[in-house]
Amino acid sequence: MKLDAYIDTFLDLIYPRNIYCLLCNKSIQKTEKYSLCSSCREKIEFIKDKTCEKCGKPLDDFYILKECPDCIKTKHYFTKGFSCVEYNDPMKELVHKLKYKNQRYVAYHMAEMMIDKLKRQKIDFIDYIVPVPMYKEKEKNRGFNQSYLISKYIGKAMNWKVEKKNLIKIKDTNPQNQLTKDERKDNLKNVFMIQSKEQFKDQNILLVDDVYTTGNTTDACSKEIKKSDPKNIWVISFATGKNI
Ligand SMILES: [Zn+2]
Ligand SMILES: [Zn+2]
Repeated sequence: MKLDAYIDTFLDLIYPRNIYCLLCNKSIQKTEKYSLCSSCREKIEFIKDKTCEKCGKPLDDFYILKECPDCIKTKHYFTKGFSCVEYNDPMKELVHKLKYKNQRYVAYHMAEMMIDKLKRQKIDFIDYIVPVPMYKEKEKNRGFNQSYLISKYIGKAMNWKVEKKNLIKIKDTNPQNQLTKDERKDNLKNVFMIQSKEQFKDQNILLVDDVYTTGNTTDACSKEIKKSDPKNIWVISFATGKNI
């Protein structure tokens, strides 16, 4: 076992799961799903049936088309995407805890929700989980890649391989949310690189990200993965915004 695997196992042992609420830290019953108290669970907008058939964003009831306006306008490179919750303020806080406050246990509960989503969508045939990669230096500074942490939990639960090294980020980029729509696409041009095309050939790939917003990052990754001619590229993210 490598050192980081030891650390993970150790963290798994010392972190008492399902004792405190993930959002408000109040003590809870061990049986509470996703480690949430009932009042915090109400603050979460779980994404249910009415979603875009391509990207998985929630759609309003009055909306009659099958794909969201964004997917009608923009061609995506992935097969289909799914998300668990709407990216509202409490969920922004949760993602922030994981990414910037080093509260890594959050990844475990995000993965729980993502696993349930995948099971409900009958996605049970994945060959490789691929976390959206981070630029080497950035990952070093943060100490971890949150998408990789989530991927590891999904992989463990579903018995799927996690492949972190085949898709890499070769350039540092500005955060997508600080750019205009046009800048966002340019920002991600030739940023990701696939190392071995053979590995993903004819395989079912599951790309994992924490938040799906415009889909630009997911698309840039999928475009690169597609060069290896995979069977499908499925996308799962924890949270997503609504665009209709
Ligand atoms: Zn709570
Ligand atoms: Zn869509």
